[in-house]
Amino acid sequence: MFKWFVDPGHGGRDPGAVANGLQEKNVTLKIAKKIKKIAESEFDGVEVRLSRYADETVSLKERTDQANSWGADLFTSVHINAGGGTGFESFIYNGNYSGKAQTDRVRSFVHDEIVKQTGFRDRGKKQANFHVLRETRMTAHLTENGFIDNASDASKLKSDALLEKIARGHVLGAARAYGWKKKSSGGSSGSSGSGSGSGSSSSGTYYRVVTGSFKNRSNAEKRQQELKKAGFESFLDVYKHKGETFYRVITGSFKERTNANKRQEALQKKGFTSFIDVFKK
Ligand SMILES: [Zn+2]
Repeated sequence: MFKWFVDPGHGGRDPGAVANGLQEKNVTLKIAKKIKKIAESEFDGVEVRLSRYADETVSLKERTDQANSWGADLFTSVHINAGGGTGFESFIYNGNYSGKAQTDRVRSFVHDEIVKQTGFRDRGKKQANFHVLRETRMTAHLTENGFIDNASDASKLKSDALLEKIARGHVLGAARAYGWKKKSSGGSSGSSGSGSGSGSSSSGTYYRVVTGSFKNRSNAEKRQQELKKAGFESFLDVYKHKGETFYRVITGSFKERTNANKRQEALQKKGFTSFIDVFKK
């Protein structure tokens, strides 16, 4: 199960930025709830928890403590900007840390997808020393979705359709970064010959195509970049064996072994060797 902790900025006694009849805390909560709904209803194996579900005061420390104790895989803090400007920007922690390349990679997917979905002006991929980015022990980023004090952005933020696009951008970006699988219900899954039928839940056996296993995370990330250049999305799986940790690059997770074999053939043509790991969840 992929654990995604989504943090709607501000809340309760802290309204965040206020302008044009909007309070940041209310807009961020609406977006976060939409993220949860879209991610859990459209993708397999994803669980979303929010730092708050209502208009409540939650300290920054409580937010990061919650995510850390849950053992979240990804932390996303949702905000609305203010201070004169227009458009979208995002942040990762500006320090040096072991998962920084992966953090930036995931952020880029999410950032680009939000810009694409919303049509917001792209203000850039930034870094900052924010509590929620610094004190989280997992991949973490923060999004600033339009300017509440800009009349044009604010009028868009009043429309449910834009909030839906913002949320969808967050979800589709994360889905691409981690290689989430779309729920198969509803037909058009894209991939051929899935043997539908019983037990449409996310549990069961998966055939995962492992394209490299590394002791060093940065080597695994390097492999991911090579795969990306060759047109393959992948995600990292942390695998512990006899007390040692390995970072395995997974290029597809399939319910049908034949589909995993097809992926292996496609990888082989581009020069990547792989093996199949049978994964039960
Ligand atoms: Zn804020």
